[in-house]
Amino acid sequence: MSYERTGQAYECSRNFSANRRSVVGNPPYPNGPVKPFRIIGNIYYVGLQSQTSFLITTPEGHILLDTMTDPEAPVVRKGVEELGFKLKDIKILLQAHAHVDHVGGLAKMKEITAGKVLVMAQDESVLADGGKTDFRGNGKVIWTPVRADKVIHDGEKVTLGGVTMTAHLTAGHTKGCTTWTSVAEENGKKYNVVFVCSNRINDGVPFINNAKYPRIAEDFEQAFKALKTLRATYSWLRTPTCSIWKRS
Ligand SMILES: [Zn+2]
Repeated sequence: MSYERTGQAYECSRNFSANRRSVVGNPPYPNGPVKPFRIIGNIYYVGLQSQTSFLITTPEGHILLDTMTDPEAPVVRKGVEELGFKLKDIKILLQAHAHVDHVGGLAKMKEITAGKVLVMAQDESVLADGGKTDFRGNGKVIWTPVRADKVIHDGEKVTLGGVTMTAHLTAGHTKGCTTWTSVAEENGKKYNVVFVCSNRINDGVPFINNAKYPRIAEDFEQAFKALKTLRATYSWLRTPTCSIWKRS
């Protein structure tokens, strides 16, 4: 198995220290604009170089996976419209995990799309309190709190217009870190698509004796086991660590 960078408008050239800075929120780090584009089949990219956002279209409305930070939400909005889709047709708002670079723009996006917010059960309370109880946080609200319309669980399928997104709990990065899988079709061929949730531990988070997240090590172990079972034609790492990769 090898990985080849798809390259489309992407640069994965940042070194590890730059990535570390980005994760702890100490910019500058590359997060420039990306012209929105179709990746494969019904899957489109509407994010930035570092922060990601995916539009999955269906004949009965669309699914949006992640909204980036609040100031970046207009990028998603513009990307969707530039691709010729309507915001009002977004029916479902999915999350990779409850961190500000994934859900910071969710409140705004919910308002302008009326999409239903779905979140993995283990991230529900953190999403709802704006990150206040994030195990790595300091008790302060980080993003506009969002109450989920539906709580989902490991293995749950979300279906719209003939498209199915399956949620896989791959916790550790957050308690509800969710890897999503789907099948895209193009020119009569089917492709397994995996939107990988971040699978790295954040800076400063204890891996053992973590009073705020005692089972973090076990969760990471479980996450890697789960990821190993997924078969991908296309796999997207959803973290500032890297960008879009094609598995070959
Ligand atoms: Zn994160």
